[in-house]
Amino acid sequence: MSLEKKEIMNLLDKYDKDEITIATLGSHTSLHILNGAKEEGFKTAVVCEKGREIPYKRFNVADEYILVDKFSDIVNTDIQKRLQELNSIIIPHGSFVAYAGLDEIENDFTVPMYGNRNILRWEAERDLERKLLVEENIRIPKKYDKPENIDRSVMVKFPGARGGRGYFVASSYDEFDHKINDMKSRGWIEDEDIEKAHIEEYVAGCNYCIHYFYSPLNDEVELMGMDSRYESSIDGVVRIPAKDQLDINFEPSYLITGNHPVVMRESLLTQVFEIGDRLVRSANKLVAPGLNGPFCMQTLVNDELEVIVFEISARIDGGTNSFMDGSPYSYLRYGSGMSMGRRIALEIKAAIEKGELNKIIT
Ligand code: AMP
Repeated sequence: MSLEKKEIMNLLDKYDKDEITIATLGSHTSLHILNGAKEEGFKTAVVCEKGREIPYKRFNVADEYILVDKFSDIVNTDIQKRLQELNSIIIPHGSFVAYAGLDEIENDFTVPMYGNRNILRWEAERDLERKLLVEENIRIPKKYDKPENIDRSVMVKFPGARGGRGYFVASSYDEFDHKINDMKSRGWIEDEDIEKAHIEEYVAGCNYCIHYFYSPLNDEVELMGMDSRYESSIDGVVRIPAKDQLDINFEPSYLITGNHPVVMRESLLTQVFEIGDRLVRSANKLVAPGLNGPFCMQTLVNDELEVIVFEISARIDGGTNSFMDGSPYSYLRYGSGMSMGRRIALEIKAAIEKGELNKIIT
């Protein structure tokens, strides 16, 4: 049974609002989430796998260390209880979602959570994610229902392989077939995966991951920063000459290993704000209370200067680590030093002051 909002609100009512702790799992974006919370005067707690606490201690971002045998123990009843005793608001990020699990977050995890816990499934499942984008006509790569229909370069993605080994590019049905058979012979995919292959237009363009913040308290979509991905092995292999790339018969993967800060040409920013507003509108319609807090649109910009969205994050995205001390865009809005983590803390602080925590917690 899905968690009732009432249940969470009852817990939140019992919290001492002068003693709120901002808590998260020690991974992903937790360094600047916790650092930003401290900057805004909150207490902080990190739930961390034993042995992985070193960066948090070295950077001194947490007041409380809750060490667990494995990250997924964050959902254990005693850990949840400890977090509630600390008046914790949990900030969900990509690793938190992966380790806690969507079912658990939706049904059993009763620590008050910042943002909309029900939208997390919508970014994780490709069909739901697509619905969110299509609802307000956001430009996305064309999707192919059958490999026989391939009429241009496409990117083929398998479920669960996000960014990892198992993406490939093909330009015809024959090439698709040949590459699928090759992957099967290497044991990378099974027959049942082939039916689930997601085939979409390959966008020849530059990568911009756009980090937004939507505040329901003042109904505004803010542009907080942008990054571009540094992916292994594709970004490494371009450092060898094309001739050698062919010689070694290399199959690239697209596994994210880091991020570069980036800015977009200024004339594209109209599109950037437009697509951010659109996603907020469609989320409001499809999965109330919609996007609430940080979200990200992963885009490719082609040579016709179209901003094409190939993926979204409906929570803080890892690329926000590229602006822990602020980005050029957050500088325009807030002056120096506004990370996404600090922006979250600012929102929670404002909601506490206005008595409107119910608007941003689920
Ligand atoms: P994803 O796992 O969907 O985040 O994609 C991983 C990487 O694959 C991206 O960062 C891009 O480099 C690349 N990619 C994904 N979709 C496309 C596409 N439709 N066209 C071109 N490159 C893509």
